[in-house]
Amino acid sequence: MSDKTTVRGSTQTYELNSALTGYECLRCHQAFAVDDEIIDLGTGCPKCLEQGFPVSLMCTYKKQESLSNGSRTRMLRFAPHLPYKNFPILGEGDTPLVPLAKLGNKLGVNQLWFKNEGQNPTGSHKDRMSGLAVARAKALGKSAVIAASSGNAGASLAAYAAAIDLSCVIVSMSSISPMWEAAIEFHGAQLHARQGQDDRWKYMQQMVTEHDMYPVTNFLKPPVGSNPFGIEGYKTIAFELVEELGNIAPLVVLIPTCRGDLLAGMLYGFLDAKNCGLIDRLPRLVAVEPGARLELVLQGEDYREEFPVPSHHLSSIGAETVSYQSYNALNITQGTAVGVGTRQCAAAQKTLGTAGLYVELSSAAALAGAEVLASKNYFTSDDNVVLLGTSHGYKELPQKYAWTI
Ligand SMILES: [Zn+2]
Repeated sequence: MSDKTTVRGSTQTYELNSALTGYECLRCHQAFAVDDEIIDLGTGCPKCLEQGFPVSLMCTYKKQESLSNGSRTRMLRFAPHLPYKNFPILGEGDTPLVPLAKLGNKLGVNQLWFKNEGQNPTGSHKDRMSGLAVARAKALGKSAVIAASSGNAGASLAAYAAAIDLSCVIVSMSSISPMWEAAIEFHGAQLHARQGQDDRWKYMQQMVTEHDMYPVTNFLKPPVGSNPFGIEGYKTIAFELVEELGNIAPLVVLIPTCRGDLLAGMLYGFLDAKNCGLIDRLPRLVAVEPGARLELVLQGEDYREEFPVPSHHLSSIGAETVSYQSYNALNITQGTAVGVGTRQCAAAQKTLGTAGLYVELSSAAALAGAEVLASKNYFTSDDNVVLLGTSHGYKELPQKYAWTI
């Protein structure tokens, strides 16, 4: 594969970052070359998979001196740390970091902020992933991308695929909210509903292997993370935090978590910032999840198990499986995992509303998780805490129409 890839049937060119040195398995650390097609199969490390351990690959780069190239705004200024020098732009990144002084006092922490990813073009953090994933698919000459999603990822990918004339298939659950259904179909993506998660992944695998569609999310069980090029986009959230907050340790970041793409991307971003000498220690990353999944893995359960959790309405972070990349991020940053339920998140959503923020119920999990941890004296009065708000409240049907608690 050449460094510069001309997009088939288009004058647009997506250029690989010459600093990209290859890919590495998170578990066995085997290195793969930049042109190794294994990265695009969506099945992670082949050696670990053969041993029964599905594990993601991460991009590796030559050492960089700074985070930003200083020449462009939003995500593109961080191109030295991203796999492509350019990618479709709809205005993602540079989301507000909102101080929450009163709430911080209540939690007993030094400072508290809310990183509002709901301000991205399609209303969620997924926009940071979609641009890089569709750029990769287009650069490979693929005609279609495919993802399993019942919400934010589907709406985001449909928009970015449409922006560069790429076909898009979203494999959803029959229970998908009409808000997301409308957004996905509005951008011309095909929406296929399936009854259960297993059926959804089987269908996606078939489309990838038999119809040459480019996979952006997982289709294995147990799962790996989403597309490694897309996950690199999440590093920019960490970069923006470092730019705004500086070397403000001890820093704790709470992240609503399903299979850990955001956790993994933020770990990679903070590692880059540390390698550039901008921070001297990693923040503790905290996964907030419905019920106990990663919490049990941190206590010694096998990450490949299924973790049934009580019923809830946190549709964007619901799952009965976890991924190795989540465990890896919590382990490396000496973070933790905390379980929350619908009622706690609904209360936290209302609390954020009183501070002027309207977020999706699953996003409010970040505050609900912080409240649980504060009640267990997890924080010290020196801790500086960031709540990662993943998605806007407008994306969800209001409670009175959607569900009752
Ligand atoms: Zn491996």
